[in-house]
Order: sequence, then C-alpha cells, then structure tokens
Amino acid sequence: METVGSKGIMRIVQKYGGTSVGSTERIRAVAERVKTLYQQGHELVVVASAMSGETNRLTALASEISPSPTARELDSLLSTGEQVSTALLAIALHEMEVPALSMLGHQLGISTDSSYGRARIQSIDVSRMEEAFRNKQVVVAAGFQGVDAEQNITTLGRGGSDTTAVALAAALEADVCEILTDVKGVYTTDPRVCKDAVKLDRISHAEMLELASLGTKVLQIRSVEFASRYGVKVHVRSSFDDSEGTWVVPEEEEMEEVLVSGVAFERDEAKITLFGVPDTPGLAASTLGPVARAGIIVDMIVQNVSAEGRTDLTFTVPKKDLAATEEIMRETAKTVGASGYSASPDIGKVSVVGLGMRNHAGVAVRMFEILAGEKINIQMISTSEIKISVVIDAGEVDRAVRVLHEEFVGGERAAPAGEAGQ
Ligand code: ADP
Ligand code: ASP
Ligand code: MG
Repeated sequence: METVGSKGIMRIVQKYGGTSVGSTERIRAVAERVKTLYQQGHELVVVASAMSGETNRLTALASEISPSPTARELDSLLSTGEQVSTALLAIALHEMEVPALSMLGHQLGISTDSSYGRARIQSIDVSRMEEAFRNKQVVVAAGFQGVDAEQNITTLGRGGSDTTAVALAAALEADVCEILTDVKGVYTTDPRVCKDAVKLDRISHAEMLELASLGTKVLQIRSVEFASRYGVKVHVRSSFDDSEGTWVVPEEEEMEEVLVSGVAFERDEAKITLFGVPDTPGLAASTLGPVARAGIIVDMIVQNVSAEGRTDLTFTVPKKDLAATEEIMRETAKTVGASGYSASPDIGKVSVVGLGMRNHAGVAVRMFEILAGEKINIQMISTSEIKISVVIDAGEVDRAVRVLHEEFVGGERAAPAGEAGQ
C-alpha cells in the first residue's frame, strides 16, 4: 500500500485567501492548481476564505440592521462567506473530474471555545478528513469557522482562515502548509505601501509573531502560534504563479545578523487620555478593567509621572471600539475621580522588528531621529526585545513606513554585513 511520504506523495494543506478565490474565474484557476497536485497523488486539504469583500459585505449588512448585532448570529452570518467559496471550489473541481468534498467547520471536526468573533480552536477530530483521503477525495475546507461545545457556529477572527489551515496541518501531521495569497510572500514591509519592500526567503517564528501582532495581516497571529508550537512547515506564496515564497521557520543563528527584518504598521487605532487621575494603587486596574471586561483589546498604555498626586493615563484601542470605549470612560472617569478625558480617533502605529535588535543598541534613537527629521510627532513609544513601536497620526503612517524602511532595510542591505546598527 502507498503511504504518505513514499514515492514523493505528500499530505498538503493549502489555503487560498479572499482575492485568490475572488471570482469564478479565480476559483477555476485555483481548481486547476489543485488538480495538478491531485494528479501527482498527494493527499490534499484546500482551505478557502470567503470571496474577497464578502466578509465585509456581510458585516455591513448586519450593521444596517443593528449597531451591535448579537455575537452568535453575527458569527452565523459571517461563516456563510466560506460556505459559498468552498462549495464553488468543489463544484469547479468536479467539473475537472477531481473528486472533492466541501466541508464546513463542524464537518471538519473543528471544536472551539465560545468566544464569538475570536474563537480559539480547542481540538480537531480528523476522522472525516482521513476517510476522504482513503476515498481519494480532496477535502475543500471552510476557513475561519468552527463550532463550540453546544454546536453553535463560531468564527476565529479576521484573517482566521490562516489559522484554520495551520491547525488542520498540525492535526493531520501534514508535510507542508501553503498559504497562497495575492503577494509573493512575506516582505520587509507591505509591498503596497513601499515599492522597495523585499520578499524574505525565510522568517523566524518570533519575528513573524511580532509582525503579525503589529498589524502585518499576511498571516493571522494565531496561525503563527500554531506553526511554532506544533512545528508546522508554513510556506507563504503567491496563488497567481509558482514562484517560491517565504518559509516561516524556527530561529537560525545567522538570523540575528539582520538588524531589522520588517516594518509593520496599523492605521486604525484610537487613543484615549484620562486626565488628572488620583495616583493611587489600583488606578490602572480600575480604569482599564471595565474596558477589558467589555472585550476591548487595549494595546499601548502609558501612565505619566504624577505631579501633586495626580497623573494622566493614555491608552490605545482599535478604532472600531472607540465609541464603546468612550462610553465606558464617561462612567470610569467619574468613578476614579479623573478631571476628564479626551479621545483621538485617527491614530496609527509603526513598528520595526528584528532579531538583531537583541544585540544592538541605538535602533530606537535612530528611529526617533528619522521621524524627527520628517517632522513626524511621536505620541507614544513601546519596546520589546525585538521590536520598537511608535504611535503617530494615522495620516503619517505611510510616510513613516517608507522612511523607516529606507533607513533600516534599504540602508542595511546597502551597508556591508556586520556594520548594521553601528
Ligand atoms: P488573503 O486574502 O490572501 O488572506 P490578506 O489580505 O489577508 O490576504 O494578506 C495579504 C496582504 O497583506 C497583502 O496583499 C499585503 O498588502 C499585506 N501585507 C502587509 N504587510 C505585508 C508584508 N510585510 N508582507 C506581505 N504582505 C503584507
Ligand atoms: N473571511 C475571513 C476574513 O475576511 C477569514 C479570512 O479571510 O481569513 O477575515
Ligand atoms: Mg488573510
């Protein structure tokens, strides 16, 4: 009997993003690509996202009816995007005489917790997929969705099909997980913002985790966590051609030689400042507790040095959560005895990321100098071992990305090895 791995037969999970399945023409092109692999005898799971724009369209439909749609029903609604694309892809494969079976989250055996809109995968029962392999069928898997213990439909958060793919690859012990998208791989920054962005051949899990958490949406952060934890080989590449993309790999020694491997950014943040808060123990907890309990993710937090027993507390939240956060602040400002609060809706964040920063001082200062030279005002700063982030006006994000890329990535490649960071 043929086993996986013999005669070069592999178990492959592929994921196609929204643009890659954005039209019936694109769906046919994807089916052709899958057919080639099928004819080579590989065992295949093809994860599809919703057709591009569909998840946004569904979200907008719900908000036409309600400003805050019930989370359970919203997930039920959003999951339909992937039901359409997977069924169409299976139909396209059938047209090419490739036996294929589309499966939704519950049919794939994907169990999640009940956090609608950002559910986490808890377990995967692979038996139905294994059965499909035995029947020589291609599994066409709906990305982004699962079911909780009560069989309620859940979704995994925006970009969640990446996580579906890597989690399925882990559960099936696949040889490779290919993330096929509308760019050729992971670049040093978004190639749509900076034309000098360079495709990386490899990137470490740690750097990819940072980039994903700082707004680089080519991979959802949870997918990188899965890849790192379960050792899934992830290859990010174009769905439009066969070129080699970027491998997401465990850290290698020489990776630390590169000072900055990427510039990440977010445009859709908002900033809240609470003024004149009595500087007493428990202040941060009592201010931010209600925000967290509302399920709003607070990103950066800065508390000023206090003067005369009073201080200011500033934090950022996703722009979409600003209205809800302001509502909470109206109450909280009173409870904590603040003199008032202000909100800025158009805030962005730019970050430089690189393993090499561990061993090189001075990156932060260079970053601040470059931004000062561009007259870009830094409103907040945060650092970790391998990244520096600054909060700036949203309108200045693209310009900041380009100058920082030029300084740290363009400049670094031009400089002889070993001199970076001096
Ligand atoms: P998909 O629909 O295939 O999931 P996404 O839109 O989620 O695709 O992610 C791919 C997009 O990520 C690219 O079109 C690109 O604009 C953006 N992107 C941002 N930063 C980067 C980066 N550093 N490398 C590659 N792509 C990036
Ligand atoms: N369709 C979902 C989204 O647009 C999931 C995905 O594309 O990964 O976020
Ligand atoms: Mg995506």
